[in-house]
Amino acid sequence: MAEKGDLKKVFNQHVQLEEYFTGFAIKSDKPAAAPQQPQKDIINELKQLAKEVDTCRKCVLGTTRTNSVPGEGNPHAQIVFVGEGPGADEDAQGRPFVGRSGQLLDKIITNAMGLKRSDVYICNIVKCRPPENREPRPEEIISCLPFLKRQLGLIRPKVIVALGAPAAKTLLETNKPIGQLRGRFHDFNFDDFSPPIKLMPTFHPAYLLRNYSDENRRKVWEDMKTVLAELGLPVPKGRG
Ligand code: SF4
Repeated sequence: MAEKGDLKKVFNQHVQLEEYFTGFAIKSDKPAAAPQQPQKDIINELKQLAKEVDTCRKCVLGTTRTNSVPGEGNPHAQIVFVGEGPGADEDAQGRPFVGRSGQLLDKIITNAMGLKRSDVYICNIVKCRPPENREPRPEEIISCLPFLKRQLGLIRPKVIVALGAPAAKTLLETNKPIGQLRGRFHDFNFDDFSPPIKLMPTFHPAYLLRNYSDENRRKVWEDMKTVLAELGLPVPKGRG
């Protein structure tokens, strides 16, 4: 949490971040979601999963949450963004990435990537808020991971964007720091029978807000350009 004297600086950084990503506004001719018709079973399966999450008490987070936050978005998204866990705003609303970090993620998706939030799917590795915004504990992640794997198995995105170290380390089963992981695709092995899904680790928007610098925002932008290129979507030219 920023001290009172830092609030102006934080606000200015936030405005500059928004301007930075707004500056990349593009309009894509190609849809971000696969052009297939929504299949009722996938939609229903995701609804069923959300119900199970809502009654889940497999870890202690289920006893302290206000609302569960299973995830939301296009069931046929080509991109799934995975964060680490709900914060206070998300816990209050039952929706992922709706606080300050969510506003920045929205800017990245809409203004920087030229997509709509409804084109992608957004969720977290744990579906209930860790108290005091602490990182989820290993046993909580282990308890919750089957839900995320089911979501990914239903949606089958072409690219997973892991937002921040906990998500990247969990999905890649590594202890390497995010600074070493980001910037290139890794294979997320869904199961023994399916081809791996490309996974791009990048900085969490909350980290970007806390550690504002030209270098950090450029790195996130480079990561998103790589994702766009992989999907054959237009990559804006200009800054970066
Ligand atoms: S965090 Fe996941 S495993 Fe833990 S109670 Fe919530 S839904 Fe269940």
